[in-house]
Amino acid sequence: MSAPVGENPPVSDTTRAEDLAAGLAAVEHRIAAACERVGRPREDVTLVAVTKFFPAADAATLLRLGVTDIGESRDQEASAKIAELTASGGQSRHHPRVHFIGQVQSNKAGSVARYADVVESIDRAKLVGALERGAQACDRDLDVLIQVSLDGDTGRGGVAVDGVGALAERIAATQRLRLRGVMAVAPLGADPDDAFARLREVSRELRRDHPEATWISAGMTADLEQAIARGATHVRVGSAILGARPPAR
Ligand SMILES: *Cc1c(COP(=O)(O)O)cnc(C)c1O
Repeated sequence: MSAPVGENPPVSDTTRAEDLAAGLAAVEHRIAAACERVGRPREDVTLVAVTKFFPAADAATLLRLGVTDIGESRDQEASAKIAELTASGGQSRHHPRVHFIGQVQSNKAGSVARYADVVESIDRAKLVGALERGAQACDRDLDVLIQVSLDGDTGRGGVAVDGVGALAERIAATQRLRLRGVMAVAPLGADPDDAFARLREVSRELRRDHPEATWISAGMTADLEQAIARGATHVRVGSAILGARPPAR
């Protein structure tokens, strides 16, 4: 028996897998409804399930439930989790596409390049060089997004809007990094609708010189509907699927 969506059943009533299935179904419903409201096909939007702070077993369950893309934000945790996921025997057909969505320290770029398929959080030239070297060292191509700081407060990651063009040129000049688009987090306290409208403008501008950079990663648990209405191609959703995260360690 599944509990009604939106309620928190006592832990003893459902297994973890049932909880994850219910959370995923609720998010799928939200995405489908948001697409329908603005006349976009559901296939336009990729769900990235953000598994940070949760164990590899949860990620494996989500992959069995049909999730294709997972998001992680800390190198040490992510590299261990991906190693565990890919080591779990005959599960290789459930190999996820791994999105790195957190701030990347330059000295971790070589590690991230080994397991990430998409790095969503490129926000400075130094990181472009470090990721390119990492990707070359392990003979891989990486899809990358430029993380945009929509309020200019770059302390939380992201390049200011007026720095996007130069960073895009740096990425385009590499061998192993493929510029796929932009990513942003709605600024704290701001209207997400305005923020995502701004991001869509940044994307439009970027595509004049880089027509292949079509991805817009925007929207999380709190604001995925607004993001989809403003053209998001990827939503990054954690707590609505997996539950509240344990406090940061
Ligand atoms: C943690 C995180 C998410 C997921 O947030 P939820 O509110 O749990 O959906 C999305 N994007 C980034 C960059 C994150 O760090």
